[in-house]
This record gives sequence, structure tokens and C-alpha cells, in this order.
Amino acid sequence: MKYNYLIVGAGLFGSVFAYEAKKKGKTCLVIDKRDHIAGNIYCEEIEGINVHKYGAHIFHTSNKKVWEYINQFAEFNNYINSPVAVYKDELYNLPFNMNTFSKMWGIRTPQEAKEIIRKQIEELNITEPKNLEEQALSLAGRDVYEKLIKGYTEKQWGRPCTELPSFIIKRLPFRFIYDNNYFNDRYQGIPIGGYTKIVEKMLDGIDVKTGTDYFEFIKENPDIAEKTVFTGMIDEYFGYRLGALEYRSVRFETEVLDTDNYQGNAVVNYTDREVPYTRIIEHKHFEFGKQEKTVISREYSSEWHQGMEPYYPVNDDKNNALFEEYRKLAEKEENVIFGGRLGNYKYYDMDKVIEAALETCEKEL
Ligand code: FAD
Ligand code: UDP
Repeated sequence: MKYNYLIVGAGLFGSVFAYEAKKKGKTCLVIDKRDHIAGNIYCEEIEGINVHKYGAHIFHTSNKKVWEYINQFAEFNNYINSPVAVYKDELYNLPFNMNTFSKMWGIRTPQEAKEIIRKQIEELNITEPKNLEEQALSLAGRDVYEKLIKGYTEKQWGRPCTELPSFIIKRLPFRFIYDNNYFNDRYQGIPIGGYTKIVEKMLDGIDVKTGTDYFEFIKENPDIAEKTVFTGMIDEYFGYRLGALEYRSVRFETEVLDTDNYQGNAVVNYTDREVPYTRIIEHKHFEFGKQEKTVISREYSSEWHQGMEPYYPVNDDKNNALFEEYRKLAEKEENVIFGGRLGNYKYYDMDKVIEAALETCEKEL
């Protein structure tokens, strides 16, 4: 055995694990099938702008320990995410707050907004929301649901809102104050210099092989390490033997434009069904960039098929139940630890991935 650990995936989970293992004197080999490290937080510099290649990433957390942990590797700027939503020819602030309600109904006070929402939902008789549609309606009423949630969500997930779990919409704040901060967390920002540098620091001094797929590699190197940390798709690991879990994929259409400011905001969501993409990201605004040109990415969401990148687990009842069966198999798999968004089939944000990785390290190392 050449290494203590073979770590599959050079994303955030694998890299935190590798960094902590090295500190404890363990040897690690990190492999990734992509030709670069950093997984989905990878940034590539185009025209002097850090482009978030696999979708916009804003770091936010309420966990002080996680915030201090990530700050070892980078200094963060004071970016606050405040997306704008475009519905046909109307423009609204997100998340759902008094700015949104005031624009939607021409009102000024929280009392007026609450009264409108109350009237819109009173005949619906929703006591305990059973799905995303009922959850959204009961929080914000029919107008907000129809204009800002229904179309976006159905494009993003490819399923009717009645078939989606309510926790997805509970990710977003609903508030009756004038506050466009997309997150409620205590700490928020973008690492100055981009995310890839964070992962470079984590993996400093550790053996890394990119462009290396686990399933090929392990056939030729079955005795490479005592244990494996696997952050790829759990169903793929088991050869889909219980059936395939569902994922959503995203196609990013990235363009360099000859203007210094295309949309005036980092994130603009397109919430009607007719526009085929969900959002446009203008990367420079995450770092208050002053470059002459700009880079934008349109995000097109689609069902995942083999050969595509699996970005989002679809955590509905059916898939969660299947995952539970895979989790039981995973428990029996000696010397393999499953982690991260794909290994645990969970809609984790970065802070939750770090939390989970540190917990795993505490148990394991
Ligand atoms: P990944 O980054 O996916 O890393 C797993 C790695 O394993 C990949 O590099 C993959 O190539 C590799 N791999 C898989 N299978 C194999 C194999 N067979 N052999 C070798 N290598 C393999 N979080 C936030 O906190 N804020 C945000 O704003 C935010 N925005 C997001 C936007 C989008 C579009 C997406 C998709 C996610 C977003 N996230 C955000 C979530 C964030 O990306 C994840 O929480 C985090 O990156 C997951 O880290 P990970 O290590 O679990 O997975
Ligand atoms: N959402 C919506 N309208 C929006 C933005 C988000 O209905 O303009 C819903 C949608 O269902 C989405 C969920 O809220 O999947 C969570 O949004 P978030 O921005 O957290 O999604 P992510 O950045 O993870 O894709």
C-alpha cells in the first residue's frame, strides 16, 4: 500500500479531507477525472476576470468555525448577493422582501403586504405545506408564486412544483423588511483571487492526479491505498445496481462581451417559462471588477444523463428512498468513506460540505 488514503474527487470535500489528513501525518493521493482541481468551485481567469466555470459560488455561513476555517486559505471581500429577477418586462428584487412586494403591489408597509398575501392564500386552506407549490404559496401568495417561483423552479428542476419537496424553496429568505440580501447567514463573501487558489493551498504538498477516473485507475492500482474517500456519485460507485439516482445537470453558455457592464448585477434570474435559461451570471461583479470587457454565463438546466456533469441531486421522496438503500450498501463497504454532494446525495452548500468533511475527519483521523 503506497498511501493511507486514496481520495476520489479534488473538490471541496476531498481537499479538506486531504489537508486535515496530511496535518495528521497521513499520506494521500487525490485523483479527479476532470483535468483540474477544485471540483465545482473551480474558477478560470478570462479577460482578467475570475469566471466561476461550474456556476456562481457565493460563500455564506452562520458557522463561525467554518468561516474561520475557510479564512485560513483566503481573504474574503464584502460581496453581498442580491439577485434581480426578470419576469417578462417586469423587474423585481430578490429574495422575497418588501422591495419585491412594494414593486409587485404598489404598497409601502409590511401590514399592507401581509394583508395581500393573507387574502391570496385564505381560500387555499394550506395548513401543512406538502410540496414546493404549497410552501411557496403559503409564504408569499399567488402573485409572487406565479411570477417569480413557478416558472423558474420548473425550468430548474424539470418537474411541476407540486412534485418537488418544500425544503428547496425554504433555502430562500422571505422577509417583511426592505433587505435584498439573498442569505440570512452571519458571514458572506467571495474569496479574493478566486476559489481555485483555496484548493491549491489545501492540496499543497499532496500528490494529485487530474484527468484520472477512479473506475479505470483502481483496476490497475487495486492496492494503492489502505482506505478510499469517495466523493463521486454513490450510485455509480455501486454500478447502479439498485437503479440510477436522478440528478439535474446545467449547461453553461459563456461569452466574452465587448462592454464593461452588461447587466449591472452579478446574478439576474429569468423567472418566466418562455426564456430558456434560468439565470445570467456576470462574473466580474462578484469582485467589483473594473476590466474593460465582461464575461457572462447563461445557465440552461436539464435532466442528467450518463456523460453529463451531475450538479444537483433531486432530493424528492423517490430518490431519497433509493439513496437510503445505497447508503446501507455504503455502510457495509469496508475501508470506503462516502462524502460530499454526490457521495451523500445531498443539496449541500459549500459551508455544509466543509462542516461534513471536518466531522468525517474528526471521526476518521
Ligand atoms: P464536487 O465539487 O462536485 O467535487 C467532486 C469531484 O469528484 C469532482 O471534481 C468530480 O470530477 C470528481 N469525481 C467524480 N467522480 C469521479 C470519478 N469516478 N473519478 C475521479 N473523480 C471523480 N454552494 C454555496 O455555498 N454557494 C453557492 O453560491 C453555490 N452555488 C452553486 C451553484 C451551482 C450551479 C452548483 C452546481 C452548486 C453550487 N453550490 C454552492 C454548491 C457547491 O458547489 C458544493 O457544495 C460543493 O462544491 C461540493 O463539493 P464536493 O467536493 O462535494 O463536490
Ligand atoms: N427560486 C425561484 N425563483 C428564483 C430563485 C430561486 O423560484 O428567482 C427557487 C428555485 O426552486 C430554486 C430554489 O429557489 O431551485 C433555490 O434557489 P437557489 O438560488 O438557492 O438555487 P441554487 O443557487 O442552488 O441553484
